[in-house]
Amino acid sequence: MDDGMNISQRLSRCIAYGLYPLLWLWLLATTVWELSNDNESAEVAAVRAGVIATLLLACEWWFPLRRSFGMTLAHLLKRDVWMIAANGLFLAGLNTAVTILAVNVASSPGWLAASSLPVQVITGLLVFEALQYSLHRLMHTCPGAIGAFLWRCHAIHHLPEQLYFVMHGVFHPINGVLVRLFVQLLPVWLLGYSADAAFVITGVIGMHGMISHFNVDLRLGPMNYLFVGPELHRLHHAANEPRASNYAVALLIFDVAFRTFEYRPGQQPETLGLAESRGYPGQHHLFGMLLFPFMDRPGGRLDRRFSRSA
Ligand SMILES: [Zn+2]
Ligand SMILES: [Zn+2]
Repeated sequence: MDDGMNISQRLSRCIAYGLYPLLWLWLLATTVWELSNDNESAEVAAVRAGVIATLLLACEWWFPLRRSFGMTLAHLLKRDVWMIAANGLFLAGLNTAVTILAVNVASSPGWLAASSLPVQVITGLLVFEALQYSLHRLMHTCPGAIGAFLWRCHAIHHLPEQLYFVMHGVFHPINGVLVRLFVQLLPVWLLGYSADAAFVITGVIGMHGMISHFNVDLRLGPMNYLFVGPELHRLHHAANEPRASNYAVALLIFDVAFRTFEYRPGQQPETLGLAESRGYPGQHHLFGMLLFPFMDRPGGRLDRRFSRSA
């Protein structure tokens, strides 16, 4: 029994410090493979993401950080799959709507495509994160009616009192559409980087997005000052923080620059979700969640104190 515990603890430790470098190696290997062969990049990207997703789900199953933060069948069937399906439908509709533009972008790369691949990748990542940081921070802190609407859209992602890989896909469709338009497509339109650069950029962002909600004790060490991992994003979802922090999705540079960076090595929040859930829809109330951005709360205006704004 003791031996079993020791092996389990040893494996947990290996995952904590070894999985993140391993994911980078996988990202590098698939990137080299894609760039040196004439593969279909969409297929390679699907394999790249599929392997990471399988690995993360297996680690969460056998080595969860906290059972109370983890996925349950009830949350999966009553909330997650429906919200992910709703987002899939909305984003598929949006993609269809911008197909012509997307084809143009893909077939005629813009001015940045003439630069070297590293310049394209670094510029693309920085512009993506600048837009992402700005929108995410506005959703938490923008005053007035627009701010309240943005927060209501984004609050759906903060309702769960758990944090696990699949929960990465639990957000309001309007939140998803805003991110797709202003954070994901806008940089492509503005910069017009090459398909190779897009492959690398989506790989880095996708990998960090996937690990950000990971319910496993994954340690990034000093890399926490550069990239977003679960240690930082868990603090963003903590229920009892005096202010919201760590708005980034991939690069930390803007959180560090604008003093919204929070890192407490080895410490986990006690509770996740909203500090006060009164007035918000229940976690399994799908229509309540979908309609929430358009609803006036019982008793009038949204109480912004509940929004954990800075
Ligand atoms: Zn947030
Ligand atoms: Zn999140």
